[in-house]
Amino acid sequence: MINFAEQNHSLEKCPALVLNADYRPLSYYPLSLWNWQDSVKSVFLDRVTIVSSYDRLIRSPSFNMKLPSVIALKNFIIPQTNPNFTRFNVFLRDRFTCQYCGSGEELTFDHLLPRSKGGQTNWDNVVTACSDCNVKKGGRLIQHCGMTLNHEPFQPSTEDLHKNGKNFPPNFLHKSWIDYLYWDVELEA
Ligand SMILES: [Zn+2]
Repeated sequence: MINFAEQNHSLEKCPALVLNADYRPLSYYPLSLWNWQDSVKSVFLDRVTIVSSYDRLIRSPSFNMKLPSVIALKNFIIPQTNPNFTRFNVFLRDRFTCQYCGSGEELTFDHLLPRSKGGQTNWDNVVTACSDCNVKKGGRLIQHCGMTLNHEPFQPSTEDLHKNGKNFPPNFLHKSWIDYLYWDVELEA
């Protein structure tokens, strides 16, 4: 059966979720997605197994194939243990809440030790802060402005982010991806 909604999607909107050889996503943050060209190429190079497909065919003079929506690498890649220091990952570590007042609105980043005083931009010195708290704190130290920090910032593990990530799924998830992203939620429940 052809799903017309998918058939009308542009190919650019049909990435494949890439799983490691153990059928867990290659990475969660960002989610390991390959564009359709890379996923089709990897199928032809015999580097991946097709796990699931979109309901749309791609055609060329020499072949027809369903566009892969989930692929698994044939060779296991040892996962990265420390997530990248990115804006998204800092928000995720802090569960998208201001670390001073708990608000989830207008989130920005605050340097605990202000940059003007030599503070670094890293896991240990950057926290999620709403813009009100950010303005209130300004270039000062928290002990000088009567504010308290809910949690000390830390370098999270991939596992820490994954735990928090279950509450903040990406905006677009193809239905065929869900089994591979959230299977362990069921086991923990
Ligand atoms: Zn705040």
